[in-house]
Amino acid sequence: MRPKKSLSQNFLTNDRAAKRIVDSLDIQEGDTVLEIGAGKGALTKYLLEKAKKTVAVEIDKKLCQYLEQRFTEKNNLVLINKDILKIDWGNLAGKMGHLKVIGNLPYRITSPLLSLLLENREFIPLSVLMVQKEVAKRICAQPGSKDWSPLSITVQLHADVKTLFHLRPTSFYPSPKVESSVIKIVFLKRPRVFIADENLFLLVVRSAFGQRRKIILNSLSANLNLPKTEVELILNKVKIDPKRRPETLSIQEFAKLSSALGNLLNCFFA
Ligand code: SAM
Repeated sequence: MRPKKSLSQNFLTNDRAAKRIVDSLDIQEGDTVLEIGAGKGALTKYLLEKAKKTVAVEIDKKLCQYLEQRFTEKNNLVLINKDILKIDWGNLAGKMGHLKVIGNLPYRITSPLLSLLLENREFIPLSVLMVQKEVAKRICAQPGSKDWSPLSITVQLHADVKTLFHLRPTSFYPSPKVESSVIKIVFLKRPRVFIADENLFLLVVRSAFGQRRKIILNSLSANLNLPKTEVELILNKVKIDPKRRPETLSIQEFAKLSSALGNLLNCFFA
């Protein structure tokens, strides 16, 4: 079977790393685990030893047939030959209960996958994912660092995140062009900060980062199409220096800012 580049098929060949990734999921007796992109089963092998049930989703039909044969004696594997982006999480969780999610992600679909995990976080207590190192840096960044970004904020609004370890390209066949990191995402029962309107919050965050090198006053007024004088008043009201750069604002500050800007946006665009 020739690895398919179009499906990000870089198979993990480092068995110690595979075990370490599975160990990081803290699997308890009775847990059901969902694996994203099972490939040839590098992680599946260890999951089947630990979890009550492993639901392995793999888009490639040939790999599914391979997995079926490889693990034919295991009765705790449910194989689903489907695009993970088309899975009905509510339905699956309804049948299986809470799902711990693991995967050496197909890097091409990292973004939509993270959005899906966030949307379905009520069914997912915990997730351990291998992502591109650069993406891991952004997900786990702290305010004030160059990697603090809308991605850090959207994930950390709903989860505690941690980088566990890094892997070189030589741990895979074929070797990808990028370095990889394994991250742990523990979803919170409630958002880190109370936010009345999450869409507005995200709009404000994206607008603030729209022009990264600009000060927050200029990027907000340009991207939200609001007069500078009004935006400056709001920033002063919530005690944020209008000259600060967007990457220095915390999630709490973005929350205060978006709720204050909500009234102004209503006035201008009602
Ligand atoms: N877990 C295996 C490992 O660690 O060796 C394979 C990891 S490989 C980076 C990604 C896997 O995801 C491939 O087997 C690929 O066929 C599968 N895949 C790619 N896109 C997918 C999708 N949309 N839905 C489900 N699986 C997908």
